[in-house]
Amino acid sequence: MSTIEFQHIKKKYEGNDTYSVSDFNLTINDGEFIVFVGPSGCGKSTTLRMVAGLEDISKGQLIIDDVVMNDVHPKDRGIAMVFQNYALFPFLNVYDNIGFGLKIRHMDKGERDRRIKEAAELLGLSPYLDKKPGELSGGQSQRVALGRAIVNQAGIFLMDEPLSNLDAKLRGAMREELVRLHNQVGATTIYVTHDQIEAMTMADRIVILRDGHIQQIGTPEDVYQNP
Ligand code: ADP
Ligand code: ADP
Repeated sequence: MSTIEFQHIKKKYEGNDTYSVSDFNLTINDGEFIVFVGPSGCGKSTTLRMVAGLEDISKGQLIIDDVVMNDVHPKDRGIAMVFQNYALFPFLNVYDNIGFGLKIRHMDKGERDRRIKEAAELLGLSPYLDKKPGELSGGQSQRVALGRAIVNQAGIFLMDEPLSNLDAKLRGAMREELVRLHNQVGATTIYVTHDQIEAMTMADRIVILRDGHIQQIGTPEDVYQNP
C-alpha cells in the first residue's frame, strides 16, 4: 500500500529568483491513478522528481505511507520511474535491460530470473527476451521500460509523458495497457502528460498545475465539465 502526501511543498532551484513549485498540497490515496496536466514550465516534472528524490525539496514535507521522505535516498523510496525516452541499453538484450537494476543491486540470480520472466509475461515480451533494443518497435521498447519499472515491485509508479514518442494508434492501445498494469500490480501512479485524452481516459483524479501551484483537482468529469 502506498499513499503520498505533499505538505506545503516548495521548490526553488539554485540561481532562480522564484519558486518553480509553491505551496503544493495534495494527498494521493493508495491505488489511485493521478494525472498531472498543465502548460510547459508549470512544475509537473519538478514535482515528480521531488517524489523520486532526484531533486531536493526546498520547503515542506513529502510523506509516503506516514514516513517523511525528504531525506530518504531514491533507492529506498519504493518508487519506479518511466520516462519518455526509454533509456534502454542498446547493447543489452531485453532480458538484461529489464533486469539491469536488479543486477546492480546484487539480487540473486533465481529471484531476478523469476521477476524478469514474470514482468515479460505480463507485458507480452516473452518472445523478445533475446532481442536488442534496435530490433524492437516503439511499443515494444516502451514495454521494456515498463518491465524495468515493474521488476522493482515498487508501490509507486512515476511516469513522465511515457507515451509521447509513440504514434497515435499505439498510444491508444498503450493507454489501456498502462491502466491495466497499474491495477494489476496494485500501484499508486502519478502520470504527467500534455495529452487531454490521456488525462480523461486514464485518471482517477486530474491535477491541473499552473505556475507551480494546483489550479484545480477533480475527477475527469469534474475537470472537463467545469473548466
Ligand atoms: P513542466 O514539467 O511542467 O514543464 P518543470 O518542472 O520542468 O515544468 O519546470 C518548472 C519551472 O522550473 C520552469 O520555470 C523551469 O524553467 C524551472 N526549472 C526546471 N528545471 C530547472 C533547473 N534544473 N534549474 C533551474 N530551473 C529549472
Ligand atoms: P533501477 O531500476 O535501479 O533504477 P535502471 O536499470 O533503471 O535501474 O537504471 C540504473 C541506472 O542506469 C539509472 O541511474 C539509470 O538512469 C541508468 N541508465 C539506464 N539506462 C541507461 C542508458 N541507456 N544510458 C545511460 N544510463 C542509463
